[in-house]
Amino acid sequence: KPLVVAIDGPSGSGKSSVSREVARRLRAAYLDTGAMYRAVTLHCMTTGVDLTDSPAVESAARTIDLDISTSPDQESVLVAGSDVTAAIREPAVSSAVSAVATTMGARAELIRRQQALIAGSGHRIVAEGRDITTVVAPDAQVRILLTATEEARLRRRGDQLGGTQSEEQLKRQVTERDAKDSTVVDFQQAADGVVTLDSSELDLDQTVTAVLEIVRA
Ligand code: C5P
Repeated sequence: KPLVVAIDGPSGSGKSSVSREVARRLRAAYLDTGAMYRAVTLHCMTTGVDLTDSPAVESAARTIDLDISTSPDQESVLVAGSDVTAAIREPAVSSAVSAVATTMGARAELIRRQQALIAGSGHRIVAEGRDITTVVAPDAQVRILLTATEEARLRRRGDQLGGTQSEEQLKRQVTERDAKDSTVVDFQQAADGVVTLDSSELDLDQTVTAVLEIVRA
């Protein structure tokens, strides 16, 4: 049965782990759209595309040979056949990714690819990002904005990175990135018909349960 679950939220909201687990439990596909922005960013960095050159970034988004797994059990991102699953998580990519996210031509192309992946799943998928509930899949059966206080988000991102980053570095990666991202997509405020779920006081399992309750409601 078709079931599109759209989940948006800021960085460190726990979106990815929550969405992946919800997809497993629903036996649905899973799409991490942030990984696609990251892959284009890394590709530009490694092929010498100037990230401030909008036409060049747009062209990179159009021509990139990008293959992202939509299985919740297999995290894999390939660019021209080479595995960049780990490389796209590097802090250098996190710092640069907003340049791709704010290039409207690149967004249009990635949105088109994301909609094709959703269709390819037979419309049975959990898709997460910043503009899924509003732009990529505004007609999804379930639309959720996953929020958390800044304190909770910094703590989570810190844990994710294994405590290797200072408070300052974390702030740069979480708070500043959200501020830049907000200039193109408003994911801080739930759009009409979108359910807000605050995960600040919930662990992963509790958040997954809360999402599944919304899905079943
Ligand atoms: O979700 P994640 O933090 O990996 O996303 C990386 C970046 O990709 C975000 O900071 C944002 O700039 C961009 N992004 C976006 N729209 C989406 C998903 C991600 O602009 N739907």
